[in-house]
Amino acid sequence: MNSSKKFSRRAFIRTGALGVGALSLGSTLSALAACSAQPQKKLGIALVGLGGYAGGQLAPALQQAQYCYLAGIVTGTPSKAVEWSKKYNISQKNIYNYQNFDEIKNNPDIDIVYVVLPVALHKEFTIRAAQAGKHVICEKPMALNARDCEEMIAACKKANRMLSIGYRLHFEPHNMEVMRLGQQKVLGKITSMDNGNGFKYGGDPNAWRLKKALAGGGGLMDMGIYAIQGARYTTGMEPLKVRARQEKTNPELFKEVDETVFWELQFPGGLVTTGKSSYNNNWGYLRAKAERGSFELEPAYGYGGIAGKRSDGPLLFPQINQQQAQMDDFAQCVMNNKPTRVPGEEGLKDMRVIDAIYRSLDNSGNWETIG
Ligand code: NDP
Repeated sequence: MNSSKKFSRRAFIRTGALGVGALSLGSTLSALAACSAQPQKKLGIALVGLGGYAGGQLAPALQQAQYCYLAGIVTGTPSKAVEWSKKYNISQKNIYNYQNFDEIKNNPDIDIVYVVLPVALHKEFTIRAAQAGKHVICEKPMALNARDCEEMIAACKKANRMLSIGYRLHFEPHNMEVMRLGQQKVLGKITSMDNGNGFKYGGDPNAWRLKKALAGGGGLMDMGIYAIQGARYTTGMEPLKVRARQEKTNPELFKEVDETVFWELQFPGGLVTTGKSSYNNNWGYLRAKAERGSFELEPAYGYGGIAGKRSDGPLLFPQINQQQAQMDDFAQCVMNNKPTRVPGEEGLKDMRVIDAIYRSLDNSGNWETIG
């Protein structure tokens, strides 16, 4: 963040506060108008790993963001460095590769590093970014397992840097509404819930998503995490136990990772919710029954449009650019030193559930304690 950007917003806040007490309404309004014409303060984000999500969603969202912008890139592919620097007007001094990444420490243009790499690399680059003095957003799933998540959280705390997970649905209006309906018991207590997320994998059979060492697991890690999140944020509770089973219809393609997984989560008070994930089925729903009605979202978890209804009417909320909302919120958290609603601890909680699901799969579907 450069000092002129910093100054304009502070000046706006100061002048606005002064105006209310000391100036006439007319002069206050013209002072506010003059100040709001000044450039908005924006934090610089560097994207690490220029794959499908970084190129398809995050970079375009950063073009619309109000509080952050695409300041830098980190890539292992030199041709992408050339292409991105032209397309997004990124200065050469803000382009890194995985080897010289730590030099980002000396770059004041970069405030936030956004890790968009295969899962196995999340831990290393989150820790290196924090040690370089940068705040971090790390994509989901946060890491290969809960122990790695704990190390990432500790490293960011030690470096006094904020850590956030790319949980965009916490900023999405339909999903925020189901959080409200469930957590505030608007239709009474939730009595049952079912969540599913998955897609039919038709991609490269050699892609990192199918390699255990790089992905940690399959449909459960990549897609099931949304269904687990859905159960957690709708009930507002943390599950205590889980049991799971799996199906593999294509053991050749899904040699190393899970294809379709089914689970039950046991919550405090006795509620048991069901969930499923897949690399072989197109699912994407959240369904809750409560004492006095029900509500659901479908599609629930994507970014191509979310829809939903309640038993007593529709759920009508705007479609927003979720990535923009998520990154703008984190930039404001950093600017104002306020906690993010999706910290590393949130990623850790999901990974504890996922670890327990894998333990259950290894233990013939036994109930496993989470955490
Ligand atoms: P891609 O495979 O499209 O991109 C990953 C990028 O990582 C590559 O293009 C490459 O970039 C870099 N990379 C570095 N090392 C490796 C390696 N050994 N193998 C493969 N790629 C490597 O993945 P996605 O963009 O789909 O996913 C990245 C992350 O984002 C994952 O954690 C995923 O779960 C998450 N994601 C989140 C979504 C959401 O909605 N929140 C949606 C989609 C993905 P380069 O060439 O620049 O080095």
